[in-house]
Amino acid sequence: MLNLEDPSLLRQACLIDGEWVDADDGTTDEVTNPADGSVIGHVPAVREAETRRAIAAAEHALVTWRKQSPKARGALLRRWHDLMLTHQEDLAALMTAEQGKPLVEARGEIGFAASFLEWFAEEGRRTYGEVIPSPMEDRRLLVVKQPVGVCAAITPWNFPAAMIARKAGPALAAGCTIVIKPAGQTPYSALAMGELALRAGIPPGVINIVTGDAAVIGGTMTASPAVRKLTFTGSTAIGKLLLRQCADSVKKTSMELGGNAPFIVFDDADLEQAVEGAMLAKFRNAGQTCVCANRLFVQAGIHDAFVERLAARVAALKVGPGTESDTDIGPLIDAAAVEKVEGQLRDAEAKGGQRHGGGERLGGNFLSPAVISGATPEMACFGEETFGPLAPVFRFDGEEEVLTLANDTDYGLAAYCYTRDLGRAWRLSEGLDYGMVGINNGHVSTCEAPFGGVKASGLGREGARQGIEDYLETKYVNMAI
Ligand code: ADP
Repeated sequence: MLNLEDPSLLRQACLIDGEWVDADDGTTDEVTNPADGSVIGHVPAVREAETRRAIAAAEHALVTWRKQSPKARGALLRRWHDLMLTHQEDLAALMTAEQGKPLVEARGEIGFAASFLEWFAEEGRRTYGEVIPSPMEDRRLLVVKQPVGVCAAITPWNFPAAMIARKAGPALAAGCTIVIKPAGQTPYSALAMGELALRAGIPPGVINIVTGDAAVIGGTMTASPAVRKLTFTGSTAIGKLLLRQCADSVKKTSMELGGNAPFIVFDDADLEQAVEGAMLAKFRNAGQTCVCANRLFVQAGIHDAFVERLAARVAALKVGPGTESDTDIGPLIDAAAVEKVEGQLRDAEAKGGQRHGGGERLGGNFLSPAVISGATPEMACFGEETFGPLAPVFRFDGEEEVLTLANDTDYGLAAYCYTRDLGRAWRLSEGLDYGMVGINNGHVSTCEAPFGGVKASGLGREGARQGIEDYLETKYVNMAI
């Protein structure tokens, strides 16, 4: 039972042009709690017509929003940030109810989400152009930055608030307007953010949120010539589909797609630090993050000690509903997610992997975290993103060997490496074919740094100075004097 201090944060309608609206035909989708399957509520199941109205509202709002000063836009973003922190408890409760993560992680995510609004509130004021020394005496060459225009955002369920803030923050700061489609599993975090955006004074139409059939809404967004940019976080398969759909109208795109992160521990690493890092990088959000350590490569000399220590730590993790204060691992998002992890476990064991406890179904979507040693590249867990609480450990001998194994994937989002050898740390951080590398550190995300991947992990960067560039066009002005 949701017991919010401010019950009006539970919005069950779409936000279009500053109004809370239902689907034209009144249809709705059910939203359930992954911890117990109970129904939290219903949100509109909108289709093309409502999505087109949201896009039109964003187009209309763009005319005045883009003309506001970055400082004025920043003040509104800052107010939105403040309201998210004021309502942190309610927002966390909503997120845990629909997503399942432990409350302490949900609270952390609200703080993380708000940090992007604060960061971009300021960064909007630094979208500098430049003056180019002219090759001709009677010409002046200028470069100015302008908002891309109407943006569409499609976001996932694993970080229901942060993935929106990381897109809406820079979009609004740059002077763009936006239509957001949150994941069907987690619309309430998005709608509550919409409510707070309105309370912050962000004008009608600048932020619009639509819920309903993903393919229909996504298809309408990508087909619309008014939408100048699509920003997406989700699976590589859907990312590729959306890229194809965006081709016809040549939209700008930002794609935060899947990962297959290597987590490499060398013999000279600090064992405790490496195990702590692995716990964080693997089991945060029950292993449902795109930067999750997917493959743990451990050098022969430290291998047995690492596996023993990791298995002991994992066995002590408490699995339960996110609402209980001592829960470390909440439910997975749905039954299919549980089955995927179980499938990888079965496959690994059939191919000679040794299970060190865990991997038990505890009812509903609850699955106990597992460690497998003796993992090999032939196993599914080597090539596929697990997105769940399974840590496969691969034994290796040499640096070159592990670098080859680590890069042997289509993905290239995050990689982690533990060593106390400075030269090796440099060689690995340069040699790993990934967008982000953590050295002696299992958590790299922060609003000040550019988040994003290479290869099949995506296009563009979110957060940091680079994050606003994705929402700006470069215009060149050649003036005769
Ligand atoms: P996951 O497997 O993690 O749910 P998805 O890529 O399926 O990852 O989902 C990420 C987001 O993409 C969600 O908002 C989802 O609703 C949306 N989505 C899924 N299928 C489509 C589609 N065909 N077109 C547009 N968006 C889609």
